[in-house]
Amino acid sequence: MAQDIIIETKGLTKEFKGFTAVSNVDLQVRRGTIHALIGPNGAGKTTCFNLITKFLIPTSGQILYDGQDITSEQPAAIARRGMVRSFQISAVFPHLTVRENVRIALQHKLGNSFHFWRSDRVLNGLHDRADELLSDVGLEGYGEAITAELPYGRKRALEIATTLALEPKVLLLDEPMAGMAHEDVGRIAELIKRVAKGRTVLMVEHNLKVVANLSDKITVLQRGAILAQGTYAEVSENPEVVQAYMGT
Ligand code: ADP
Repeated sequence: MAQDIIIETKGLTKEFKGFTAVSNVDLQVRRGTIHALIGPNGAGKTTCFNLITKFLIPTSGQILYDGQDITSEQPAAIARRGMVRSFQISAVFPHLTVRENVRIALQHKLGNSFHFWRSDRVLNGLHDRADELLSDVGLEGYGEAITAELPYGRKRALEIATTLALEPKVLLLDEPMAGMAHEDVGRIAELIKRVAKGRTVLMVEHNLKVVANLSDKITVLQRGAILAQGTYAEVSENPEVVQAYMGT
């Protein structure tokens, strides 16, 4: 496998009781790029994503991460290798402060040894690192806020901060713009661009226009299979893609 491919699927297939949701998908995600997986409702995006992040077991096919076959690995093992999934609202604790949420993620990364808990130096370091991460995602000044009281867009920025605390090489974003108010979409898009520097981002998104300015490469799925791939300019002019998106 080429060195610059960080995620690759070969013949990835998932059947649910005889219904093929993902059919023979060969995906290649290049290291250091923002790659979007898009397609109309029911195209198989979420299933594909869940297969790559190991939330689902494929019926057949292979998943390679950094050249290694991870088809049989557990989700936690994948995260430890640096492929981290974000945008699971439930991953943040609503009654804790914004900073506490980031600190928990940082502690998770370090491990919870007894010795570690007693070290003031480490705990102070976590406080400072949490504030750095908050500032990276545009949440400076929000450290003391109760997470449940954050506006929706800010909550999603916090999720990115907790994900960054795990020092991912690959960030997997599940519909980052879902439910987002119009004014937040641009801000989150900028944030994704910023955090993508030096990393790889694979995102699932329904809306082709949303990914237009963000993605280096777009894979369009339809009925579980790859319909088209390329830059936004390439796929948006593809008559089959236009057809697939009509009425969605
Ligand atoms: P998308 O994310 O592109 O909207 P999904 O991956 O959620 O598409 O779904 C693809 C197809 O697989 C849909 O027809 C959906 O109904 C079906 N599907 C998804 N998950 C299941 C499941 N657990 N059991 C049965 N069918 C499923």
